[in-house]
This record gives sequence, structure tokens and C-alpha cells, in this order.
Amino acid sequence: MEIIKSPEEMHAWARARALSGKTISLVPTMGFFHEGHLSLMRMAAKQCDLVVVSLFVNPTQFGPNEDLDRYPRDFERDMALVQQEKVAAVFAPTPDLMYPQGFQTQVSVANLTTHLCGQSRPGHFAGVTTVVSKLFNIIQPEVAVFGEKDFQQLAIIRRMARDLNIPVKIVSHPIVREADGLAMSSRNTNLNPANRAAALSLSTALQLARERVGQGVRSVAELTKILEAHILSFSGTAIDYVSFVDFETLEPMTVAEARTVLALAVRIDGKVRLIDNGFVIPQAVG
Ligand code: AMP
Repeated sequence: MEIIKSPEEMHAWARARALSGKTISLVPTMGFFHEGHLSLMRMAAKQCDLVVVSLFVNPTQFGPNEDLDRYPRDFERDMALVQQEKVAAVFAPTPDLMYPQGFQTQVSVANLTTHLCGQSRPGHFAGVTTVVSKLFNIIQPEVAVFGEKDFQQLAIIRRMARDLNIPVKIVSHPIVREADGLAMSSRNTNLNPANRAAALSLSTALQLARERVGQGVRSVAELTKILEAHILSFSGTAIDYVSFVDFETLEPMTVAEARTVLALAVRIDGKVRLIDNGFVIPQAVG
């Protein structure tokens, strides 16, 4: 497995492989790997001859008061984990290599970014789409794999690839969870035991929503009230949003139905912001 730092070298590596007839799938990440990341790598390995994993904590997708400095990093641990997967190369550039002096271009998607995390994290998605565009241009993968955990990000990247005719197939992987239901996240490492208990407010809210919808409660106003009370019953939780949206357009819905995704963002103890989501009627596959 190769570790490549510079975009130019990464491009040359990928181009040489493509010219020799190899297909490449890309898994973009910010590192501090968990089973969710590794599952994406395994899915990527089934799609193409070679897997490239990018590992870059992208500063432009963090707001000024967000956790860029506290974002967990452990390059050696990550390399030990990735060695065990079928990964041909890790692309791990530094910020100054990705954003050299004079950098001034942005890729942004309009409507989809105005909902959900777009409201509480202004500029976040422009940072994501810009860096993912750069990764697509540098590596030119046939396939890129993203997790459904970041469900809004996935919708935005699909839209961007379609709108800009980027010749990449976007593949998604279901949310990988801990045994007790907590969606895996690199940020979970920043949870102390009390916060870890409060973090279960998200996955249990999702279960509760499915239960209530199954019992015939379809009014989003009523469901929202039930879920907000549930989340706030865990100590140290503050709700960023509890939203019922159309899985494709991300527009808010007033009645829960087959297309409805419940999207949640909750701050735990004022420090760790967690997200989760899922269809309210689980058998409805997007
Ligand atoms: P991150 O390193 O958090 O930026 O995540 C890199 C990729 O892994 C993104 O496509 C995420 O959606 C995906 N991912 C993160 N956590 C999970 C999870 N628990 N299950 C599935 N995919 C995940």
C-alpha cells in the first residue's frame, strides 16, 4: 500500500493505473477510522480493481467555532487499520498542498445545502463539495463510496456530480452502528461515559419514530413533539434539528410517508455534535 501526499503524485499514480486498464474506486474520509470507514473500503473493493482512500481533515468545511482543532487524528493507527484492507493507496495531503497560496475557487450546490446541517453550519457544504471536486479531479475514480450517515452530504454530492457531468458513479453504504445502536462516528471518541449515554438519544429517537409511525402517527408536528421530548429527556442534550424531509429533495414534509427520512442533529454537553438519520418506514428503500 502506498501513502501519497502530493496531489500531483496522486494524479500521476492514478493516471498510470487507469492507462494500464485498472479501474479505481475512491473512499473520501477525514480519518480516525472506525468500522463504518472500513465497511466503505470493503464496498469500494468490490466495485473496482484498486481502492484509493483519501484522508484529509478539510479545514474549509469547519466553521470558526467548530471542532477542527479537536477533531480526532491518529495517522499511525489509521495506517495500521487500512493495511488490513484491500487498499492500494492512501492519499493524505496537507492543507497547504490542497489549498496553496492564491487558492480562490469554490464549488457550491444551491438548494440542497439550505436545509438541515446547511442552516447550522454555514459554508460547510461548500467546503465539502469543493474538496470532493478536487479529489475527483486528482484521482478521477470510476466509483466513489459515501456513507448514508451523512445523508445530506450524499444527496449534495450526487447532485454535484450530475450537474457538473463528473464521470463518477456515486455509491452509498448504509449506516454502520455500535451494538447498542449509536451510529459510528470519529467524533464518538470525544464522548465521556455520561455523554456516551446521552448520545443514544439519537438512535433511540429514530426507533421511537418508526414505532409511532407504525402505530399510525403520521403528523410531523406530532412526531416532532414526541421526539424532541424524548431527546431532551437525556441529560446534556441540545437539539440542533429534528426534521422530517423528502429523501431526495430534502424539503420538509408535514406528513410521514414512504419517502420520509427523519434527520437528527443533537449537541451533547455543548461539545460534540452528532447526526443520525433513517427512513421512518424502514422497508422503504430509496
Ligand atoms: P468522515 O471521515 O466522518 O468524513 O467519513 C468518511 C465517510 O465515511 C463518509 O462518506 C461518511 O458518510 C462515512 N461514514 C462515517 N461514519 C459512518 C457510519 N457510521 N456508517 C457508514 N458510513 C459512515
